[in-house]
Amino acid sequence: MNERSAAPGSLALVESLVNTLLDIETGADTLDAAEVRRCFGIAEDAVEDARELRESLRATLLAHAGHPPHREVTPLGELLSRAPLYVAVDERDGSAALAPAPDASLLSRVAAAVAEGLANGTWMRLKACEADDCHWAYYDRSPAGRGRWCSMQVCGARAKMRRYRAKEG
Ligand SMILES: [Zn+2]
Repeated sequence: MNERSAAPGSLALVESLVNTLLDIETGADTLDAAEVRRCFGIAEDAVEDARELRESLRATLLAHAGHPPHREVTPLGELLSRAPLYVAVDERDGSAALAPAPDASLLSRVAAAVAEGLANGTWMRLKACEADDCHWAYYDRSPAGRGRWCSMQVCGARAKMRRYRAKEG
């Protein structure tokens, strides 16, 4: 399986939102582009809220991998507590799920995605890469759930190279 394939279900929304910040060091941010904001359903005046949500998510995904937050953020729980969700029941089989409120704001869609990930056991496997110059979101598909990098080939290899150089020096 491609290690970079998207996170399962609605968590793909969370993953792609976190990864709109292309480069944490240069600040290259695809939320600067109107068509990307449209894709996420972010209104012109809500882009700063979306960025705040994105960094709170990133800090939470770092915590899933046992890392401290990358910077000071508004706690994710505080943001999600403002997201209206309702219990949707499927009349055919009686199954139920938390669904975003009819306003379908980014915040409530993210909250519903988190709820879905909690229900199906995928939430804790959505993590942020431990490399300081990366911190991309990725879905940890390692059997033991102890993956550390968004990509073994990129960030994993660079970390090994740094350790090797440190030993040499
Ligand atoms: Zn990485």
